Amino acid sequence: MINKTTKTVASWEAHSGKATGFAKLDEEPFPHFAEGWVWLVGAGPGAPGLMSLLCYHAMQNCDVVVYDALVNPDMLRWVRAGAELEYAGKRGGKPSPVQRDISVRLIELAHAGKRVLRLKGGDPFMFGRGGEESQSLAKAGIPFRIVPGISSGIGGLAYAGIPVTHRDTNHAVIFLTGHDATGKMPANVNWQAIATAAPVIVMYMGVKNLGEIAETLMKAGRPADHPVTMVSNASMPNQSVASTILSEAGEFVKNHKPPTPAIVVIGHASDWRELLDWYSPALKDNPIG
Ligand code: SAH
Repeated sequence: MINKTTKTVASWEAHSGKATGFAKLDEEPFPHFAEGWVWLVGAGPGAPGLMSLLCYHAMQNCDVVVYDALVNPDMLRWVRAGAELEYAGKRGGKPSPVQRDISVRLIELAHAGKRVLRLKGGDPFMFGRGGEESQSLAKAGIPFRIVPGISSGIGGLAYAGIPVTHRDTNHAVIFLTGHDATGKMPANVNWQAIATAAPVIVMYMGVKNLGEIAETLMKAGRPADHPVTMVSNASMPNQSVASTILSEAGEFVKNHKPPTPAIVVIGHASDWRELLDWYSPALKDNPIG
């Protein structure tokens, strides 16, 4: 395995005649970012070092970045000088732009011949409305590329020492959203099945409705003493983690108001945290992650 990796690097050097490094990303084999294209790119959970090479390449080659509230603004320093930055999230208490407006804007920019980097937190297809945005682009005949990102519900948990699967705790995991488009607990999921189908539930946007969701899960058979762990600002210097149990989750959130964004994990995946909590205060000082 190790030999194979070494060979790949060597062949890259043979191909380009230069040492490997960031500066090479503009050259082959990285894909050309053509005018009039939209790249829908996941930025990862926050730590800049968790962006992909394709994300960095897109930052270096775009004309405009349309970014969301969940994108760590520190990452934008890698965007090439001269590119425009457009914010498409909630700001100053104003409601977030409606999804249709964002899609219309992406289409408009692409029609103007721009190379559009649509930058989203985590992974664009994980509760990130990347599906809707790419559908709009496809219908409008705009060429696009999807660049997956590290989702907070996997990579963010890793920064808190929580393995999303572990052979001793869970052979399955459920990814759930804590609210639907109206902000309420989602109605069109099978709560009965969710409560019992997998030992670990990873919930995005789960803090606001956590009390109601915990009650629903317990009524459907989830044990009241199951651990509930909230990881706030995962992978960021201000990451914090709080834990309670299912029967006390509603009260806990009311009293302690965990900072958001937060990922909520229900189940024993968090039992490993005590041993695996590697992201120490000293490491948090590193600006890359
Ligand atoms: N596409 C994103 C999720 C967008 S939904 C992804 O793949 O991660 C927004 C929710 O993601 C937040 O409410 C929160 O639950 C979670 N989230 C995103 N970034 C986070 C972070 N750095 N720390 C904790 N939770 C985060």
